[in-house]
Amino acid sequence: MIIRKSAGEIEAMARAGRVVVETIGIVGEAIAPGVTTAELDELAEEHIRSQGGEPTFKGYRGFPASICASPNDMVVHGIPGSYRLAEGDVLSIDVGVTLDGLVADSAHTFGVGETDLEAQRLLEVCEGALLAGIGEAQPGNHVGDVSAAVQRTTEAAGFSVVRSLVGHGVGRSMHEEPQVPNFGEPGRGPKLVPGMTIAIEPMITAGSEEVFVADDGWSIHTRDGSLASHFEHTVAVTEAGPRILTEEPVGSLLP
Ligand code: MG
Ligand code: MG
Repeated sequence: MIIRKSAGEIEAMARAGRVVVETIGIVGEAIAPGVTTAELDELAEEHIRSQGGEPTFKGYRGFPASICASPNDMVVHGIPGSYRLAEGDVLSIDVGVTLDGLVADSAHTFGVGETDLEAQRLLEVCEGALLAGIGEAQPGNHVGDVSAAVQRTTEAAGFSVVRSLVGHGVGRSMHEEPQVPNFGEPGRGPKLVPGMTIAIEPMITAGSEEVFVADDGWSIHTRDGSLASHFEHTVAVTEAGPRILTEEPVGSLLP
């Protein structure tokens, strides 16, 4: 069942989204060669709790940390720990915040120091794919329009969409219906109507789309060792079009 949110719930999600944005900003500023991902997790948790929020991921199916921190060939779900960032790494940071019972979810991939041109292009294409997907989150469109836009943008650049990982409805809990794949056919899938809130999140690689789960039971890596990128926003479908709930200034529409 797809849960449509009231206007009040969407405002509450935007407040959770503001804490997500602030947290990603704080983590982003701390990212530098020599910093461990555990240190980034600590900064994130401190900020989320200082704002009255709960880190949604902590304890989710036993996940031990407040954020996911996934370097290089790790696509998503990295457990923060002793990994020390190095110049030229890329690092995906995924943050979920629950505030007043409502959830917002967003991710951003950062370069650490100077990254090579291929890595920069991968990140730009992934963020562009996210924006293309968001642009299709119009009332009357279908989930497949979002999916197809993400896929088209990614593949036109010569990169691959990971098919085994998908976006999702979000709001009253972290994972709700519908699934929002990063590949698909325009006009297919559930219809988008005002009040729907979805996390659109391209997960793409510079190589093949094949991935595997590591021995820690969480982190997902590219099988061929190629670099991965992940960008995500929580988006409300409104009468006026898509409203991004995890962007500063909160509530701005696409350019
Ligand atoms: Mg996320
Ligand atoms: Mg998500």
